[in-house]
Amino acid sequence: MALPEDIARTYSIADHAFAKIKANELAAFPPNYEIWFAYAAGFNPALNKRINAVLRDGRHLTQEEIEAIREEFFGAGSFEERVDEVGGKLSGKVSELMQLINHAAGQTSGYSDELRGASKNLATNVDQDSLKAIVSNLIQKTDDVEKSNRAMSSKLVESEQEIASLKQALESVRYEAMTDQLTGIGNRKRFDRAIDEVMVAAGATGKPFSLLVCDIDHFKKFNDTHGHQTGDQVLRLVGTTIKNTVGATGIACRYGGEEFCVILPETGVSAAQALADDIRQAVMGKELVKRSTGETLGRVTISIGVAEQTKSDDVQSLIERADKCLYAAKDAGRNRVMTERDMQAAPKESAA
Ligand code: GH3
Ligand code: MG
Ligand code: MG
Repeated sequence: MALPEDIARTYSIADHAFAKIKANELAAFPPNYEIWFAYAAGFNPALNKRINAVLRDGRHLTQEEIEAIREEFFGAGSFEERVDEVGGKLSGKVSELMQLINHAAGQTSGYSDELRGASKNLATNVDQDSLKAIVSNLIQKTDDVEKSNRAMSSKLVESEQEIASLKQALESVRYEAMTDQLTGIGNRKRFDRAIDEVMVAAGATGKPFSLLVCDIDHFKKFNDTHGHQTGDQVLRLVGTTIKNTVGATGIACRYGGEEFCVILPETGVSAAQALADDIRQAVMGKELVKRSTGETLGRVTISIGVAEQTKSDDVQSLIERADKCLYAAKDAGRNRVMTERDMQAAPKESAA
């Protein structure tokens, strides 16, 4: 269920969207609204870039341009349709290949029949004329098979290349499905998949993994003060900072809103805590500058809860334990990293 502040945020995006519709003298029909809502929310940077290019010319967007943008971002090129398209093409190519292979198998068996027949004839008809006829027939058939093999082999090469490029297209669609549009790091789906896989791997190796749950401090206030588009820029910055700090040691994803999770395979709580603190410091180390005006906005901080998976954990219980640590970190004054061990040592401190 949406939280009240999230609902409030949609109202503010809607206000922005409506203002844009008016400024561009467009009708407030749902299709127009859909585009401007996406623009105001900023969750598709490519769409914003496309619209900004028109606005930069000092022009208003025409209804035709809106239609073109709709087609590009929400229409035939939409994600599901692209998955269907690539999937359909791939299965088409596979059945084409099957036909080629069946055809080749038919040809080969026809050729063997021909050879068998020739050998039978040779056993009975040994006069010169018959011999000549049999040999010229065989040459003809061999020629035919050779020709068709050559055509088939170039068709196979062509199909192989097409399948390789479809495979690549499928891979990029799959990557997009697992990527958060705003920050460019893994999304919730990626997180859900990855944590299941890492849980299975930990069960097999007996090496526990750890989970970090990171949440931006006082982000609502930041949004209220500087606007949600600047808030989105901060989300991008925090997302990339987390990802770059984690590097290859783990999987960083946007869990939702202003929360990020990091899965650290084969990592105990102490190493996880150290990395969490690196992340916390890296985020704090970034000075925020509003891109449009160059204005300095100070810094944001994050709090992080850390939990190491135990044998009795399932995904849900592990997330809950890390979440509890996050809330303890918030209670203890924010801008800090907290593990269960820290919670026992210092149940509650006054705000820092
Ligand atoms: P705390 O330190 O306790 O975490 O305080 P907080 O204000 O960060 O926490 P709260 O959960 O109350 O607020 C989170 C805010 O994050 C609410 C919403 O405005 C903002 N938010 C969530 N998703 C997005 C987003 O995609 N973009 C922007 N700009 N803001 C978002
Ligand atoms: Mg939150
Ligand atoms: Mg927060």
